[in-house]
Amino acid sequence: MRYIEEVMNKVKTQNPDQPEFLQAVQEVLETLAPVVERNEALYRKQALLERMTIPERAIVFRVPWVDDAGNVQVNTGYRVQFNGAIGPYKGGLRFHPSVNLSIIKFLGFEQVFKNSLTGLPMGGGKGGSDFDPKGKSDREIMAFCQSFMSELYKHIGPDTDVPAGDIGVGGREIGFLFGQYRRLRNAYHAGVLTGKGLTYGGSLARTQATGYGLLYLTREVMEHNGHTLKGKTVAVSGSGNVAIYAIEKAWQLGAKPVTCSDSTGWIYDPEGIDVALLKQVKEVDRARLTQYAAARPSAQYHQGRGVWTVKCDVALPCATQNELHLEDAQLLVAGGVTAVCEGANMPTTLEATRYLQEHGVLFCPGKAANAGGVAVSGLEMCQNSMRYSWSFEEVDSKLEGIMVNIYKNIDAAAKEYGMEGNYVAGANIAGFLKVADAMLAQGVI
Ligand code: NDP
Repeated sequence: MRYIEEVMNKVKTQNPDQPEFLQAVQEVLETLAPVVERNEALYRKQALLERMTIPERAIVFRVPWVDDAGNVQVNTGYRVQFNGAIGPYKGGLRFHPSVNLSIIKFLGFEQVFKNSLTGLPMGGGKGGSDFDPKGKSDREIMAFCQSFMSELYKHIGPDTDVPAGDIGVGGREIGFLFGQYRRLRNAYHAGVLTGKGLTYGGSLARTQATGYGLLYLTREVMEHNGHTLKGKTVAVSGSGNVAIYAIEKAWQLGAKPVTCSDSTGWIYDPEGIDVALLKQVKEVDRARLTQYAAARPSAQYHQGRGVWTVKCDVALPCATQNELHLEDAQLLVAGGVTAVCEGANMPTTLEATRYLQEHGVLFCPGKAANAGGVAVSGLEMCQNSMRYSWSFEEVDSKLEGIMVNIYKNIDAAAKEYGMEGNYVAGANIAGFLKVADAMLAQGVI
């Protein structure tokens, strides 16, 4: 497929120092070959893939703030507005020391296809900062968020760009960001951010959405392939928002989650992870997993990484990008894993993904499997526009319907293009087609 190769080469030349972005683009482009083959002349003439791989806009800005000792600190802020063809840019903000333009661009690029898959009218964007929230006081977090928003507010709005949370950005940070936006605009634009608190326009079930959605989709993948989640052992990595609610829903669907992790160590709990204790440690005390281990006799704590050494039926990487390597995939296959579904964004390396697929493992990529978070963010925007709110059950059942539909669409797209069971291809193709058609309809933009 020459056109795809030409575009990939251009993207490599334009972004030599952006490995995560190149990885994300390569994964998408190589699965689009059968679609591009059917429309090559049109796509080439329209430079469609070139346009799709360059963000509409990337904003990089300085974020100065004052720490508790009275010293000025400075971080870099980013907002990449990748593609607005099907709706306002939509995607989270990540606060983590590893954040750079490559990471924000890869996340923004993935978000375009993910948002398209939800069936809701949302374009793709992503943002964040290399600010590290760990160990900071509430006042320092507020100072940082206020400074960050003092630039970001110029570029966002309920019909323009709607950020949300991601790694390091939860309810507390969204609250500080919303407060500053409201002050600067002197207007109550409830729909400018999602993941808000319930007292000021947040949606019930948004906190649970990504983890719950991941399990709804995993259930669909299992059941349509002759398996069930009931009674299965599940390995989960991470212990943040996505991991906690994936663990909770895994229990509710009759499976047994036995692991979780953070960046310093991991837990193996053969009796199953105690969700209430995990929430107390991570959400209330904002503490480390050593505290979970100390409070739970059945739990074994290990330093470093190692979740994927545990024998399991289902693996759910829910921490961060590139956390499941080829050696991990080999261990999982040797242990008899049935399905790997990505709660995090791009947690599986390209080599590991290929190995899992070649060895008959059901593999569902993040852009489909973790789309429940942004889907409920879309429902939050909807409720904000109506100035009305739905019950937990209403939102949860809409979420479940969206995930069931995503499974149907990615399965159908894979089948239509001769790649049955390849959910990576199915997700990329189904997500791509809607955005491609919208871009072509809107002319040279
Ligand atoms: P949180 O900040 O709530 O939790 C992140 C978890 O991953 C923590 O346990 C953290 O450990 C761990 N982690 C982060 N970075 C690293 C690293 N470099 N190495 C090892 N562990 C790490 O984030 P979320 O749960 O919200 O996000 C997790 C993933 O899910 C991300 O990839 C995110 O993009 C994706 N996602 C999130 C959505 C959401 O709605 N929140 C929606 C869709 C995708 P530690 O505390 O030690 O840093």
